[in-house]
Amino acid sequence: MGSRRDFLQKLSVSAVSLPFIYSPTNLFAASGDPYDGPILKVAIMGLGSYGTRVAEAMQSCKRAKLVGLISGTPSKIEKWKAQYSIPDKNCYNYDNFDAIKNNPDIDAVYIITPNGLHKDQTLRVAKAGKHVICEKPMGINAKEGQEMVDACKAANVKLLIGYRMHFEPKTVAVIKMRKEGKFGTPKFFQGQSGFTIGDPTQWRLNKALSGGGAMMDIGIYSVNGARYMLGEEPIWVTAQETKTDPIKFKEGIDETIQFQMGFPSGAVANCLSTYNMNNLDRFFMTGSKGFVEMQPSTGYGPIEGRTHEGPLTQPHVTHQTLQMDGMAALIFDGLQPIVPIDGEEGVKDMKIIDAIFLAAKTGNKIKL
Ligand code: NDP
Repeated sequence: MGSRRDFLQKLSVSAVSLPFIYSPTNLFAASGDPYDGPILKVAIMGLGSYGTRVAEAMQSCKRAKLVGLISGTPSKIEKWKAQYSIPDKNCYNYDNFDAIKNNPDIDAVYIITPNGLHKDQTLRVAKAGKHVICEKPMGINAKEGQEMVDACKAANVKLLIGYRMHFEPKTVAVIKMRKEGKFGTPKFFQGQSGFTIGDPTQWRLNKALSGGGAMMDIGIYSVNGARYMLGEEPIWVTAQETKTDPIKFKEGIDETIQFQMGFPSGAVANCLSTYNMNNLDRFFMTGSKGFVEMQPSTGYGPIEGRTHEGPLTQPHVTHQTLQMDGMAALIFDGLQPIVPIDGEEGVKDMKIIDAIFLAAKTGNKIKL
């Protein structure tokens, strides 16, 4: 494995000089250098498909370590315990996990359960005095999100949302270019986020557990992406919903929504969120001086893309590894990522999604 210096030299100089988490600190994961600072000791709650990915990615972290499990499935606990050498005393179920309060082995709980469970689980983890890392969407609406922010503040613990793209090298490089004015004034963003969903009985198609359909799950990438690609907060949204299969996509579960956002500068965004088109993962942004297009833009990578200056060449590093090391750097050293990952950032997306649902339902232009 090359040294960290070798690795950094492969990055663009501009990206390395960022005063944000995207600095050598955040690249411990990808370097061979030893690290002897504090380790963020994490318990994963919800040992499902994404939890499995995060656990594997954490094996390459330098600053974060998987030390505990919270699951409703005893057989998974047994398997994971053996796989990751987790002691019995760090394993919990959904009834008894409040007892992590008395467990000094655990600093933070990463909630990777269905969306509709995030709020109550966050409140319980905060009450136990542990930092909360919560998957996107942070809850099922902005009201829940705000409750989560308030509870974590009151408990004096961090609330961080699993926005892995905020650590992804090509995405970070593009945001840095935008901040440096390389695209001129951002004018237009197009985001297309979707996949074809399978099993009709899964929680993603159950409103109580998901809070909605494609928009909550995958459309949120275009919502969040519009904000970090344009560097502004929208002031209005409009939206149109299309449903081809009302049996699979019941009331309150959106199949396809096209939505538009307007920004204070006059920039506009036009986006598509869907559970009915495969491999839809594309961002395009154009400004007065240049453009960027990324496809894939938010998948697990490698992300690919180009700007008016040429191809994006930053190396691929497993997103969740960068994210977890970055979150540890934030918690221990106060280093901030180029775009926030805190609860307030999550609430901003939830407010926009609430407005998109209202716009689609009423046909009105909704002011934010
Ligand atoms: P899965 O269905 O694969 O896993 C969810 C896990 O939650 C289950 O395996 C189960 O784990 C636990 N769980 C607890 N209660 C329930 C319940 N009532 N129904 C179903 N599962 C339950 O989902 P994902 O891992 O794909 O998604 C989990 C979260 O992660 C979602 O919020 C999703 O949006 C987010 N996600 C984020 C991604 C990203 O790139 N940032 C990518 C994919 C998902 P156990 O048996 O251990 O209790």
